[in-house]
Amino acid sequence: MTYSGILEEMTIDDVRGLKPNVGVVPIGSTEPHGPALPYGTDSFQVTSTAYGGTRRANELGGRVVCLPTQRISLNNNFYKFPFACRMQVPTFMSLLKDLVDLCEHEGVHRIVFVNGHGGNPDVIRAVQRDLAAREGLFTCLIGTGTCASEEARSVWENRSDHAGEEETSQVLYLRPDLVREDQIKVNPQVKPKLEVLNEFRVEFVRPWHLYIPASAGGDATKASAEKGKTVLESAIEGTGRFLAELSKAPESDTFPY
Ligand SMILES: [Zn+2]
Repeated sequence: MTYSGILEEMTIDDVRGLKPNVGVVPIGSTEPHGPALPYGTDSFQVTSTAYGGTRRANELGGRVVCLPTQRISLNNNFYKFPFACRMQVPTFMSLLKDLVDLCEHEGVHRIVFVNGHGGNPDVIRAVQRDLAAREGLFTCLIGTGTCASEEARSVWENRSDHAGEEETSQVLYLRPDLVREDQIKVNPQVKPKLEVLNEFRVEFVRPWHLYIPASAGGDATKASAEKGKTVLESAIEGTGRFLAELSKAPESDTFPY
């Protein structure tokens, strides 16, 4: 019997039958994405890849369980926008560690964080660092589109880090009912006036109401559901293959070496 691996959709007998050895932790976000896209954009995208990839992995002979998408994450730099849902960094770290503990308690020691929100990777990596001394545990981090092929990703014409062509295309594919198509446009991405910040590519947390005043940035006018479908289908296929290989790799004290 092939199980979906989607925990929310399984019975207790399904879970016992699956005997998973890989755990997937999808991490979304709920924050504004400009005038055209819904607050749930990141969560919809990451759920598509993580849930779809898990289903595919189990069809390929993996034993993968996918936890429910976490829909609130790190958005303190969004605080000027209404209801940008957020938690503090220590809360988020505790949440991730608790989910890792849950998996380990169930005998699952290979854990994949699938992240859909740009504010999170620094802290997910910090959690991975903290967990690095835990014997026998393997954690890794991928994003919504990490496992999409180069060819699929070549459809993008105008890249953006928030609510631009990529996200607009993906939501047009996943949830067209929620897109205000008459609001799809070019939204400004403002550079700091202090030129040395730009010259030396200094890292700082940008206040997003100054960086992208519309809560969306870049040129989304070339977005299409077709582009979103191309990239997400490729991402699901690639994520499925990745998870299946991770699951099928034999037990060893030196995994993954
Ligand atoms: Zn987003």
